[in-house]
Amino acid sequence: MSNLPFALPDIGEAEIAAVVEVLRSGWLTTGPGALAFETEFGDFVKARNSVAVNSATSGLHLAYEALGVGPGDQVIMPTWTFTATAEAVRYLGADPVFVDVDPHTYLMDLSAADAAVTDRASIVAPVHFAGLPVPDGALSAFADRHDLAVVEDAAHSFPTLNEGRLVGSHGHAATVFSFYATKTITTGEGGMVVTPDPDLAARMRTMRLHGISRDIFNRYTDVSQRSWFYEVVAPGYKYNMTDVAAALGRVQLTRAYEFLERRTAIAARYDAGLAGLPLTLPARAPEGSGHAWHLYVVSVPSEAPRSRDQVVDALTEKGIGTSLHFIPLHLQPYWRDTYSLVPEMFPVASDLYERTFSLPIYTRMTDADVDRVIEALWTVLGR
Ligand SMILES: *Cc1c(COP(=O)(O)O)cnc(C)c1O
Repeated sequence: MSNLPFALPDIGEAEIAAVVEVLRSGWLTTGPGALAFETEFGDFVKARNSVAVNSATSGLHLAYEALGVGPGDQVIMPTWTFTATAEAVRYLGADPVFVDVDPHTYLMDLSAADAAVTDRASIVAPVHFAGLPVPDGALSAFADRHDLAVVEDAAHSFPTLNEGRLVGSHGHAATVFSFYATKTITTGEGGMVVTPDPDLAARMRTMRLHGISRDIFNRYTDVSQRSWFYEVVAPGYKYNMTDVAAALGRVQLTRAYEFLERRTAIAARYDAGLAGLPLTLPARAPEGSGHAWHLYVVSVPSEAPRSRDQVVDALTEKGIGTSLHFIPLHLQPYWRDTYSLVPEMFPVASDLYERTFSLPIYTRMTDADVDRVIEALWTVLGR
């Protein structure tokens, strides 16, 4: 039987045609396509300003920078995330503060976060892990309590409702989406930052392209004989999204709900097929919220007849791809050694790390593919 990969992008003829059209247009870098993608994405999530970038990592960096994060500042975040959430804090000389997670949702434990906040903290960066959002009421109350700006790491959570509104539309300082190849919609590499604050958006637009002030640029481009004029107002970065990537993104955006529907159906098929096994299934979204189903994460309880590693090895033997999201950051050498972190500081995440893994969930899987995974799990874990 052929191998079932852990993830595959869903690129159709419309995406291919859109990319070919851009290639023929002669406009390969940031141009009208990226601008149109920003507008369409902003309309989709109902955000006032959208800034297209070449990755979510760049987007996080731009958002932290625009909010004034600098040396000595702290950014509160879960240990259960990808290193990008934290590394962009270090780019600015600031320090991430890692917080343990809830054992059922893998989302940042807000009472543990309460205890972790110091007067150096200026930002909280929640991660809507796997596509399940951190409930916005509790998140906003936490941020208000400590006077923190919120930068949502929404790499997993497009599109999904959080207490009645799409992630990205709650008015938080910034929400950062990823269009990496494995994410819920893709541009190959790419990301989008949305913000209600026009000044923050302007700063991010300037910094994403060499620190060139677009406002000044635009004023002078009106005068045709000085169209060459621009001013560098900061040592910016090279984080712009290409029109080639945007062409992919614009088509993928029109398919976002079709994709979500398929991933939701796969999750429901897993839920039904795996019920009764000694396996902890993903937490459900509370009433009024959704789940983007970027990942389907399970854990093997201690009383199960097999360990996580045995289960993963058995699936690998049957040609079924799995992954682990995530190795918590407090266990990664750089973060562990830089901040003298030990597993006992994060008891829940340290325990989950031993028991958790992710099953394949992507639109190109057939029902037969899903059933194959379910049967394999019954073979290793069933009585
Ligand atoms: C994928 C991911 C990122 C980084 O996204 P890129 O677009 O690859 O930079 C950030 N945070 C989380 C939680 C992710 O899973």
